[in-house]
Amino acid sequence: MIPPGSTIGIMGGGQLGRMLSLAAAQLGYRCHVFAPETTSPAGEVSAETTSADYSDSAALASFAQACDVVTYEWENVPVAPLDGIADLVPLRPSPRALEVAQSRIDEKRFVAELGGRTAPFGFAETEADVAAAMQVAGTPAIIKSNRMGYDGKGQARVLPGDDPVARWHEAGGVPAIIEGFVTFDAEFSVILARSPQGEIRFWDSAENVHVAGILDLSSVPASAAIEAQVPAARALAAKVAEKLDYVGVLTLEFFATRDGPVFNEMAPRVHNSGHWTIEGAFTSQFENHIRAICGLPLGETALACDRAEMRNLIGEAAHGWPELLADPANHLHLYGKHRALPGRKMGHVTRITLEPSGAES
Ligand code: AMP
Repeated sequence: MIPPGSTIGIMGGGQLGRMLSLAAAQLGYRCHVFAPETTSPAGEVSAETTSADYSDSAALASFAQACDVVTYEWENVPVAPLDGIADLVPLRPSPRALEVAQSRIDEKRFVAELGGRTAPFGFAETEADVAAAMQVAGTPAIIKSNRMGYDGKGQARVLPGDDPVARWHEAGGVPAIIEGFVTFDAEFSVILARSPQGEIRFWDSAENVHVAGILDLSSVPASAAIEAQVPAARALAAKVAEKLDYVGVLTLEFFATRDGPVFNEMAPRVHNSGHWTIEGAFTSQFENHIRAICGLPLGETALACDRAEMRNLIGEAAHGWPELLADPANHLHLYGKHRALPGRKMGHVTRITLEPSGAES
């Protein structure tokens, strides 16, 4: 057990690290952020920051020596340099989980081997591979760069009549997964926390709406159609967590289709579709991640309200904070980012609803 008062290292300086650090502080921990930037959303609320490149092994070693446990808020931290610090400090979750999640093709194969359903997919590293992958994926298809893609970046759609090779070049011309377009009724995520002893707790699954590849809205409870698919999706998520001997919060994203849940992607970390848990659940994803990596008992994950709706504040939407605060049911979170660039997640707002007691449903 890593007791309160200890120092938690967080690799990555974004808003997920910021909310992890705030949850850790509530439990009496200090956080030490490792990020290339000198100022960061996470660094602003943490006790210390090491500002260095993720592959700077000397900086990593002194960071590891200053921490009692190290975790990540960004899954694209290079894995190889972490080997050098694994003897110095516990890394939770393990770098193996990062390794799987950093490559879309490895992630899809890993989940498919565990019995998860995915869109049909192929892999393309060259122009010649594109045609073969398109045979598997069918048209329409989505080309996604194998590494470093997020929020729809590094992606291109192939519609009937398009030249797939030209579209692959538009997606960067880099190694890419090409997957069939899934016809879905809705999207949802499964978020779980797993302790070092293997105890697993799930939050209610949020129904997620994406706009232009970026999460716009997460709401709980999800529709009945999604609820019916949650047990199968949870069973798969638990298998993934057990196979990786995972410690911490893990997220799997799914499409709800007529034939059941189709796995889209996983994140070895707290997730944007779980931000509603800060006010909407008895214990937030951030607090349970800290509890899990420190070996503390996990907190209750049940819904603490009748309805929670989390909306991302992207770019200039964050300037609307005065109107958002005028509604007393809203909980506003701003990440302290200075420039409201288009597509940039600047904050989020969670609207919590409680039915009046005795109200008929
Ligand atoms: P991703 O970067 O894989 O999370 O994709 C971002 C969003 O694009 C997803 O949440 C979906 O809304 C959409 N999307 C991704 N892959 C597919 C697919 N194979 N079929 C249909 N929509 C997809």
